[in-house]
Order: sequence, then structure tokens, then C-alpha cells
Amino acid sequence: MAEKRIVLLGPPGAGKGTQAQWLCDALDLPHLATGNILRSAIANNTPVGQKVKPFIEAGKLVPDEVVISVVEEAVETVKKEKQGAGGYILDGFPRTRRQGEALRDVLAKRKEKLDRVILINTPDEVVRERLEQRRSCMNPLCGAVYNVKSNPPKKADVCDLCGNALVIRDDDKPETIRSRQQQYWHDTAPLIDFYERASLLTEIDGTGSVHEVAGRILEAVAKIGRRSADSRRQKAIDDKKDGPPKIEPAPKQ
Ligand code: AMP
Repeated sequence: MAEKRIVLLGPPGAGKGTQAQWLCDALDLPHLATGNILRSAIANNTPVGQKVKPFIEAGKLVPDEVVISVVEEAVETVKKEKQGAGGYILDGFPRTRRQGEALRDVLAKRKEKLDRVILINTPDEVVRERLEQRRSCMNPLCGAVYNVKSNPPKKADVCDLCGNALVIRDDDKPETIRSRQQQYWHDTAPLIDFYERASLLTEIDGTGSVHEVAGRILEAVAKIGRRSADSRRQKAIDDKKDGPPKIEPAPKQ
């Protein structure tokens, strides 16, 4: 599988985490989930963890400069350690236009590029219901997520992957869900236009079962190579259509 850099974009509860876990296995790519990285920093009581704890507990966005430097470090680590097939799936980043611009600049500096941004489009009511039904592994190094109705663990309240307890995250409590949704529409949704203009956006329907959504994402990912070959082909056709540049006769003296 070729090197790929993919962003999963969508409101909290759209299923980015669940889909990213599955997609990373399918494509052999590392999963860079800023929420998991930050929760792990809190659990380890690192200086970053201490800084971000109050924001995360309140369901507020962590300051851009903190999360940007966390992502820069994570991107560098996966490259250095040659994890997976090269590239990564970014889940939960970028979440503001400034983060989107920072990611573009970081990649340009590294002579790398994003292959695709997949927007998992999910209505607010569906998202609210899913967040209320979500259970997360308390082990920040695992970070697995379940849904008590549509994707339950084999044993109630126990993580299938690492055996730790499953909990309702503080920011999945109903009072915090509403403010996270408002924040998505205010801070994150402008990235839709940002990536559309960069011709990187593929929008998919996020409703239905985990399997159905996964199928739509895989279809979008399968088109990545084809899409860039098509645009190279189209450019060659356009160049031919225009013919060689016309030389205007020199004005008469
Ligand atoms: P998540 O697990 O992606 O829902 O993220 C959990 C929390 O981590 C968010 O509610 C924010 O407080 C923080 N967080 C994660 N990613 C970002 C980001 N890109 N920018 C700012 N805050 C973030």
C-alpha cells in the first residue's frame, strides 16, 4: 500500500475515531488522533498534559499553538520510526482554519502533501445520540471507542483490545456535547470551504452502520491515485487543446 496522508474531518461523534481505527488497519497507516495524544499527555502528567487538561475537561478547544506543535512532533516520530506504509490518518486535526494553514505549511516544509480530506457528514441529532451512547477505553494508550447499541464490546464495559474499563468521557456528558457541537460549526466547519478550494475534499454520508460508512470511506480512498492520474491526464489534454503559445506580431513602428 502506497504512502498516504489522509485527514478525517467531521463533527464530534461523526465516527472519526471508529473509522480511523478501522481504516488504519486496512491501509497499514498510523493513527494520529490528537484527542488520544492529549489525553495520554494528561494521564502521564506531562507539561503539555497540565496545560491542556482544563480545556479538554470543559470540552473546549486546546490553543492552536499547543496542538500544532504536538502534531508536528507526532508527524516527525512516525516518519523517523517508519511506522506502517508511510503517511498517516489524522483524526481530530486540523480543527480550526489556523491549524489547517499550519498543517499545509508543515507539509510544504517537508516537501509532502495531503492526499485527501474526507468529511464525514453527520446531522447534529445523529451525532448527539451517538455521543450519548459512546463508551471509551480508559487506557489512553489504547483509546478504543465503542457504541453501546451499534458497536458494543464483547463483554459489557470492558475493552475488547486491552481489557481495561470502558467509561463515558467527561466531554461526552450531555451538557458538554452541545457546546462541542456549537464549536464545530463555529471553528471547524470553515475548513470545509478551505479544503474544497484546495480540491482535496471528499464528502461522504456519515449515517448508517459503521460498516456502511467504512465502505464509503474506502471507496473515496481508492479514488486517490485515480483522481491525481485523471487530473494529470486532463492537464495534458488542456495543454494540447490550447496548442503552443501564440506569438503576437510585434507592433508596427
Ligand atoms: P477528540 O477525542 O478528538 O474528540 O478530542 C477531545 C478533546 O481534545 C477536544 O474536545 C479538545 O479539547 C481537544 N482537542 C483534540 N484535538 C484538538 C485540536 N485539533 N484542536 C484543539 N483541541 C483539540
